[in-house]
Amino acid sequence: MLSLDGSGGVVLAADLGAAHATLALCDLSGHPLAEAVHEVRLADGPEPVLRWVEQRWRAMLDAAAVDAGRVLGLGIGVPGPVDAATGRVVHHTPVLPGWRDHPVRDLLEQRFGVVCVVDNDANAMALGEYHAVGPSSSPLLFVTVATGIGAGVVVDGRLLRGADGAEGDLGHVRITSADAGPLCVCGARGCLAASASGRALARALRERGEDVPDSRSAVELALTGHAEATRLVRQAGLVVGDVLATAVSLLNPRVLALGGDLVRVQDHFVGAVCERLYQRTQPQAARGLRVVASTLGDRVGIVGAARLALEEVLSAEAVDRALAGRRQPVS
Ligand SMILES: [Zn+2]
Repeated sequence: MLSLDGSGGVVLAADLGAAHATLALCDLSGHPLAEAVHEVRLADGPEPVLRWVEQRWRAMLDAAAVDAGRVLGLGIGVPGPVDAATGRVVHHTPVLPGWRDHPVRDLLEQRFGVVCVVDNDANAMALGEYHAVGPSSSPLLFVTVATGIGAGVVVDGRLLRGADGAEGDLGHVRITSADAGPLCVCGARGCLAASASGRALARALRERGEDVPDSRSAVELALTGHAEATRLVRQAGLVVGDVLATAVSLLNPRVLALGGDLVRVQDHFVGAVCERLYQRTQPQAARGLRVVASTLGDRVGIVGAARLALEEVLSAEAVDRALAGRRQPVS
């Protein structure tokens, strides 16, 4: 058996959410040497946010007494569709104003002089969960239900890629047949995210007079046993289950892992997803399916962001390049 010497270098990872960011410094086995959660506003635009990420990463290296020369790669998850080939956000999304087409990857590669991988946060989460559970979870469908809703798929250790970086964008599947239903942040009416996301949950509770500014506080309220918040979480689970019945029929995954704020109300949310899912899928697609809350909880995004960097740093091509660089010139 061979195992990797994790001390051969480090990677820096960032899981950027609309209001919170987790940053980490990890060794080559993915073990975190430092990890911290901060408040951040992605709406401030890419330049100030990326400068801040760079400062926090450098401060982490200093605090852990790790020389910047030992950094081999960077991994970043962002809450929007990303073109894997260019490392750029490819569509306008209200959570990421001004980020579309910004050269996030190229900029950070210049600043650190190492490879950087930028991907959609749900893809990063899917990869993180797959590595936590292992190959027995393949094919793995990961779905995050927080401020927004997204999904990623890992088959045999590799992320399933769409043609234009829009894979897994389940939040904007229309669940109403007409232009009825609540208005979504994307401008359309009747999207899944407009009814079943944490943002939608918070809005529905505010309309009933509750003081819940965001997804997280809406879930906190449900966790206190608040009857209306609990009912809305369960309702969200049923609607998400409806849409996932299609995804499960299409992919026949071994594991459906659920992450994001709403999963914290596990009995009501995961239970409701399962209820609808098993009602609406054929037995052969659901028989061997395991529906679970993410084993990594809130950390799944940062573990996945580190994996994005590690997959690249430890790829056969990158290892070949590193070895070629060390080889003595033949005279
Ligand atoms: Zn939408």
